[in-house]
Amino acid sequence: MSSIVEIAKQGLGGLLRAEGLPCSCGRTHRTDLRELVIKSGALQETPEVVKRYGGSRVFILADKNTYAVAGAEVANLLSRAGLEYSVFVFGDDYVQPTDHSVEKVLAGFDASCDMILGVGSGTINDIGKLSSKELGVKYINVATAPSMDGFVSNTSSMVMKGVKVSVDSTVPLAVIGDLDILAAAPERLLQAGFGDILAKYTSICEWRISHLVTGEYYCEEIAELMRMAVRNCVANVEGLARRDKEAVRYVMESLILSGIAMSFAGFTRPASGVEHYFSHTWDMRYLEFHTPKDFHGIQCGIGTVLTVEIYDKIKQLRPDREKALAYVDAFDLPSWHQFVRSYLGKSGEGLVEQEKKENKYSREGHQKRLEVLVNNWDQILQIVSEELPEVSEVRRYLEIVGAPTAPTQIGISYEDTRKALMVSKDIRNKYNASWLLWDLGLLDEVAQSLWQNQA
Ligand SMILES: [Zn+2]
Ligand SMILES: [Zn+2]
Repeated sequence: MSSIVEIAKQGLGGLLRAEGLPCSCGRTHRTDLRELVIKSGALQETPEVVKRYGGSRVFILADKNTYAVAGAEVANLLSRAGLEYSVFVFGDDYVQPTDHSVEKVLAGFDASCDMILGVGSGTINDIGKLSSKELGVKYINVATAPSMDGFVSNTSSMVMKGVKVSVDSTVPLAVIGDLDILAAAPERLLQAGFGDILAKYTSICEWRISHLVTGEYYCEEIAELMRMAVRNCVANVEGLARRDKEAVRYVMESLILSGIAMSFAGFTRPASGVEHYFSHTWDMRYLEFHTPKDFHGIQCGIGTVLTVEIYDKIKQLRPDREKALAYVDAFDLPSWHQFVRSYLGKSGEGLVEQEKKENKYSREGHQKRLEVLVNNWDQILQIVSEELPEVSEVRRYLEIVGAPTAPTQIGISYEDTRKALMVSKDIRNKYNASWLLWDLGLLDEVAQSLWQNQA
């Protein structure tokens, strides 16, 4: 049995076997993605790929920009290959990933089509994946920008009834990424894709910590896939700034690999830690209060800088059992819930309901985790030092591609950033830096001490 990492080094195609790959962690890892076509001129292969997966009449889904960039050419190629199609192009300037957008697609769907071809990344792909699930038809993605890592995940990031949620969706059978198109994507989207890759430094670090503290499942092979993805991208960061196709290919493949890793692991751990929760918090606040926001990956890149800074603080701490127990004893859950509601609005309401079911703040759970922290602190520091680069290094990578490195550069204050850190433990049931600090009784103290000279 060759390792999954060795297979991936030969090309991502080896990871896509329908029967899955047996792994040293004891599980067999699978993804529903069957094919990747990432190269210059990949668009030309669209008709063959459609035929290979049994598409006889194709529903092309795009927005105005992605139709101009690739959709019209896809339609031409299908015509020339004798394939029939319908076209649905959103009229809006900025399509939102909402229930309303999906309803429009479902209402406009041509029922004689047996496959959706989503032409676009991010929002269009999410709407396409979800619409395919709703309609029970096959789905293929034609990527137009290497902007985030949701290409092949089995959920779509949506706003339903004004609340940000992940919704079960169809995984594309194939992703077609034409490097001629991807390398010409808007600069901000290239920066965003790169930021979403840097986030894997902190995701893997937190996954290992969580495995140690909570016993959560962990696979070293999957973690190594993500480390490889980050290494490849940062080694080519100068090329990315120049839009070299080779560097763009690394980013695109790494984003796809993140999606594969999430399918392999069965959860988002390999690709998302507390750095993502900064981004989620800013998205939720935007929905409720129209505060500033930016692309997911831009926010995750900034979140990675912030998270490395948080772990730099954590490295200076020693657990103090008495202090931790006293802090948790004095912790007032009803007033905390009140803060979550007021800070995040409708989304916060949902998180409070979720917490009540999960009972995340139970004293019993805290005591167990605290014992692990106290008894294994050196090992936790070891994980942090093995997984995280210097914060100056993360900043430098982002600066090379021209991406922002601080929340204030996208209009978010450090005061708000401290609050985002406080609520980041409530967003999902995942152990992260914010939980660890709460467990130690140091969350308020550390949040207050962070970013003081930058405020
Ligand atoms: Zn494994
Ligand atoms: Zn992400």
